[in-house]
Amino acid sequence: MSKILIQNARIFDGTGRPPFTGDLLVEGERIAAVRPAAEAPLAQAEVDRVIDAAGRFLMPGMVEGHAHLSFDGFTCTEDLISPPVEEHAFLTARVAEKLLMAGFTSAYGASEAKLRLAVAVRNEVEAGRLVGPRIRAGSLEISVTGAMGDESRLHNPRNNQTLTIATSPGISVDGPEEMRKVVRICCREGCDNIKLDNSGDPFYPNTPATSTPMSYEEVEMAVRTAHAFGRKVNTHSRSAQSIKDAVRAGVDMIYHAEYADEEALDLLEEARDRIFVAPTIGLFHTMLHQGEPWLPRAVVEAMGIPELIERSVETHTALRKRGIRHLIGGDYGFKWAEQGTQALDLELFVRYYGYSPAEALVCATRNGGLAMREQGDLGTLEAGKLADLLLVDGDPLSDIRVLQDQARIILVMKGGRIFKDLLAERR
Ligand SMILES: [Zn+2]
Repeated sequence: MSKILIQNARIFDGTGRPPFTGDLLVEGERIAAVRPAAEAPLAQAEVDRVIDAAGRFLMPGMVEGHAHLSFDGFTCTEDLISPPVEEHAFLTARVAEKLLMAGFTSAYGASEAKLRLAVAVRNEVEAGRLVGPRIRAGSLEISVTGAMGDESRLHNPRNNQTLTIATSPGISVDGPEEMRKVVRICCREGCDNIKLDNSGDPFYPNTPATSTPMSYEEVEMAVRTAHAFGRKVNTHSRSAQSIKDAVRAGVDMIYHAEYADEEALDLLEEARDRIFVAPTIGLFHTMLHQGEPWLPRAVVEAMGIPELIERSVETHTALRKRGIRHLIGGDYGFKWAEQGTQALDLELFVRYYGYSPAEALVCATRNGGLAMREQGDLGTLEAGKLADLLLVDGDPLSDIRVLQDQARIILVMKGGRIFKDLLAERR
């Protein structure tokens, strides 16, 4: 078993404890010991490699909480369906590698553009034939007739017109029996995470964000079926009713949640020890501030994105205060929000939701690790946990933006294996 000793690091362990200087020993794929410098140092004997961190920041690897591994450099929803499957598989593999190099050692999958893209890449990564994060593979988006993912009419943000597309990247069901069948197909094909669109969305004129086109019975059936296969269910829930349906039906993760009312907030708080929430603030923030030249600002405003950001700030600030386990990430893979830039979310969590940098890091690490694995052995730097970690040049606690600079993420380890090592390159 290989042994790697990291010495003299400023250790942020993700448990909520303040950072401390110390050493960390990795044996095989797990952390064997973490020790503050005040105690006896960990012995160097029989270690394969000693890394002198020279006081740098050592933290758990980050988790992208709403990954679309099959999206990259897209400028509109049409791009989701246009690549042929062969090219799309390579694109997905490249995204997986990009995420790992950016410090994301795990990707919790939302939906993918084709059913088995994330499944195939996950399998190759697990077999060691591709480089990428740990992956919980997302399914297709499951919607209902006439709603998001089915509707052929889209809001085209480039010109503020309605755009008609031939096919959509989702799959539509009507009624619990059709839902059962489709969820079982996704499970059969190897998806870890089942994604439902139970609310509308600003991109779909027929079903705006405040609408709830999918019924409670359909959501409940999806949860029952997926859980019977040991898989998770995640919902795109913007409207208040869609959030309540999702919590009551027992979904595992709720995305967006901007239009939560008081009752929805109460339900989420009651469920906070079993449910996770990913606000996915990056998409709307980048559409508004980094959308040019692909998205004219006037059009983004006409789509109501500033109001959605306001609602997001209100809801997720309230949920932070209620102790909800938030995850960072979501809906990266567009020209204005490139894959690998997800650490922007940390800054947005601080700026919009009032998190301290340390709390935002816990969202990115511990919360993400718990969502990835029920075993509870991922997301913190403690003895016995999986050795997914980053060595960072700079102090994210005094400037959270340092994690957006990939040149400062100088070492990436996943499962005890080093995948990025700028220290060795610089030697
Ligand atoms: Zn998404």
